[in-house]
Amino acid sequence: MPELPEVETTRRGILPHIEKQTIVKVIIREYRFRWLVPSHLAKILLGRKIINVERRAKYLLLVTHEGTIIIHLGMSGSLSILLEPTPPKKHDHIDITFSNNKILRFTDPRRFGAFLWTEENPHQHELLQHLGVEPLTKNFTGRYLYLSAKNRKAPIKSFLMDNKIVTGIGNIYATEALFAAGIHPATPANSLTIERLDKLVKASKEILRQAIKRGGTTLKDFVNSDGKPGYFSNQLKVYGRAGQPCVACQTSLHLMQIGQRSTVYCKKCQSKLHPRKR
Ligand SMILES: [Zn+2]
Repeated sequence: MPELPEVETTRRGILPHIEKQTIVKVIIREYRFRWLVPSHLAKILLGRKIINVERRAKYLLLVTHEGTIIIHLGMSGSLSILLEPTPPKKHDHIDITFSNNKILRFTDPRRFGAFLWTEENPHQHELLQHLGVEPLTKNFTGRYLYLSAKNRKAPIKSFLMDNKIVTGIGNIYATEALFAAGIHPATPANSLTIERLDKLVKASKEILRQAIKRGGTTLKDFVNSDGKPGYFSNQLKVYGRAGQPCVACQTSLHLMQIGQRSTVYCKKCQSKLHPRKR
């Protein structure tokens, strides 16, 4: 599933190709995604100029003067830039051609994504208005988490993955951030001190930034013959490594379920009660 770094990488990848370009052709081959594509969208988009590509949580906002295209990549979606018309494959559902002849292609095999249009402030759209703080902003702090966690006994991992608290930290990055901060993923959110939550916030930001940076290094592949985006392979320390030795202490990493999501952690390095011993 594309997580925040992949979505941000996508934003940076498509921006230079479509910014200040006018939409000259729209082909919609499939309307049935998580929500239906508006039936008249092709007509609406013709002649609109993209003035910016923004990201809010895992939504991409293609901003025009008249309204905003809201895109979500869902479970398996991707956007790519084609330099010339290329026959669509099975899951290439939407093509938007711009005045520079470049084509933005929306591909989504499982069709859990979204491709919507709003003429209102997109941040007030029903899908976006209840989202929590952006993790890479100053608003995301240990103090913010501490205050939000009052009376919340949910495991810190579920809390960190709650979009109403902080947006776009999915399973992979929550797992990695908790390891980096030395916090057991099942720790009740309201039992953590500001200091430990500060550590967790710093770790989350660092891991997301690194992932975006690595994604940036593959941007040159964003446009290629297959039109496949250049997603990056992560260098993950715990996620997907259950049973393998911890990179810090060599203890075999454990697997547990939290909120029906598989969670890998190190029993020795991640504690519920005490800061990690160094
Ligand atoms: Zn360890």
